[in-house]
Amino acid sequence: MQVVVIGAGVVGLTSAWYLAQKGLNVTLVDRHTDVAQETSFANGGQLSYSYVAPLADPGVIAKLPQWLLRADSPLRFRPRLDPLQWRWCLHFLRACNDAQVRRTIGEMLSLSYLSRDALDELLAAHPLDFDLIRTGKLVVYRDAAALASAVPLVDWQRGLGADQRVLDGPACVDLEPSLQSVAGQLAGGIYTPGEATGDCYRFCQALKRLLTQLPNVTLALGREVRALVGERQRVVAVRTDQGDLPADAVVVAAGMFSVPLLKPLGITLPLYGLRGYSLSVPLDAAIQVPHLSITDAARKIVYAPLGGQLRIAAMVDMGVSRADVDPARISLLKQQVAETFPDLDLGRAQAWAGLRPSTAHSKPLIGRAQGMGNLWLNVGQGALGFTLALGSAKLLAAQMTGASSPIDHGPFQPR
Ligand SMILES: Cc1cc2nc3c(=O)[nH]c(=O)nc-3n(C[C@H](O)[C@H](O)[C@H](O)COP(=O)(O)OP(=O)(O)OC[C@H]3O[C@@H](n4cnc5c(N)ncnc54)[C@H](O)[C@@H]3O)c2cc1C
Repeated sequence: MQVVVIGAGVVGLTSAWYLAQKGLNVTLVDRHTDVAQETSFANGGQLSYSYVAPLADPGVIAKLPQWLLRADSPLRFRPRLDPLQWRWCLHFLRACNDAQVRRTIGEMLSLSYLSRDALDELLAAHPLDFDLIRTGKLVVYRDAAALASAVPLVDWQRGLGADQRVLDGPACVDLEPSLQSVAGQLAGGIYTPGEATGDCYRFCQALKRLLTQLPNVTLALGREVRALVGERQRVVAVRTDQGDLPADAVVVAAGMFSVPLLKPLGITLPLYGLRGYSLSVPLDAAIQVPHLSITDAARKIVYAPLGGQLRIAAMVDMGVSRADVDPARISLLKQQVAETFPDLDLGRAQAWAGLRPSTAHSKPLIGRAQGMGNLWLNVGQGALGFTLALGSAKLLAAQMTGASSPIDHGPFQPR
C-alpha cells in the first residue's frame, strides 16, 4: 500500500516512521526543502509526560479578565470577526468543567505514557542524539495559594501513575541552585523526576536520517501540496506544485495548514493556531545554569537546557494567523526572564514564534477523517506535539493497518 504523509514536522515524521515500520510504502511530502521548519523548529523542548492537563480548565475562567486586560499577561486575545474563532472559544468555555478536565487528563496521560514508552523503545534500537536529558521537571510557584491549588491534581494524578513531589521554596533551590536569585520569592514547587527535555528540531533531523535509510520511504521535500483530489468519499490524488502523487491512503499531518487543505473536501477541522514564542540563549560556562526543566507557573514560562543553550518558551497569542515574532512580546519575555535569571546574556538570544495547532479540548485528532475511506488525520497536538508525537503516530499506524490498538483510540477520533 502506498501512503502519502503530508507534513514533515515532528508529527508527520513520526507517522512516516511507524507506517514504514509496518511495511507500508511511505512518501513524506513537505513544502520546505528540509524537515521541521515550522512549529517543530524551536519549541520549548519539554517532554512533558505528566503535564497534559488541558488549557480549558475551570480555573482559567476566573483568571481570564486579568489575563486579557494586563499588558504583561501570558495570554493575549485579539477578537476577530471570524466564526472559527468564536466557535473555538465557545467549545473551549464548554470544556472548562471539572468532569471533562479529569476525563481529558486521564486520556491524555494514556497517550503521553505511550509516547514515553515509544521513545524508550526507539532509543534502545537507534541511539538518536537530540540533547535528551532526563533530569525531571520542577514547576515553581511564587504564590502559596497557587501551589496549594495545584496539589489536589498531583494527588489525583498519582493514582494514574504520575510520580510527583511537592517541595517547599528552599527545597526547590537545593534541587535547582540556578534559582538562587529568586529564592526569597518561591512559595514552593512540584518536582516530577520522570520528565525529560530534548531538542525537537534535532530529533526530527535524526528521524529524517533514519527514514532515508529505509527502502520503503521516499522523502518528497520542497514540494507544496495544493489540493487533495476527492472522489466518492476517497482521496484519489495528492496534487502538488510538481504534479500528482499516487496514494492508496493519505495522512494529513500539516499542523495548522491542515485546515485549509481539508476545507475544499467539506471538512472543517476544529483547530486554532495559538501563537507562542521561544528564545534560544547560548550558555556561558561561567554562569550557573539550570540543569532541570523549569516552569515558572505564574508567568507560564518554561526553561529547558538543550546542549549549549537554554531554550525558553512562553505566551499564548490568540487571534493571529501567522507565526510572526512580535517584538513587544519578545521584549516583555526577556524582561520577565531577566528577573529570574539575571546573568543570562539575553542580547544573544534568538527569538522564534510558532503556531500551536490546538483543539479547544486540547486532545489531538488521530484517525480516519469522517466520511473519507482512505483519508487519515494526525493533527491538533497543540502545546504538546513533541511530547505526544510518538504515541500519536503509533496509534495512527495501528488504526491504519488494523493492528490491535496500544491504547483506547476512541477519545482521539476525529468527529
Ligand atoms: C512556543 C511553542 C512552544 C512549544 N513547546 C512545546 C514543548 O515544550 N513540548 C511539546 O511537546 N510541544 C511544544 N510545542 C508544540 C509543538 O511544537 C507542536 O505541537 C508540534 O511542533 C506540531 O508538530 P506538527 O508536525 O503537527 O506541525 P509542524 O511542525 O508545523 O509541521 C507541519 C508541516 O506541514 C508542512 N506543510 C503544511 N502545509 C503544507 C502543504 N500545503 N504542503 C506541504 N507541506 C505542508 C509544513 O511545512 C510543516 O513542516 C510548542 C509550540 C510552540 C509554538
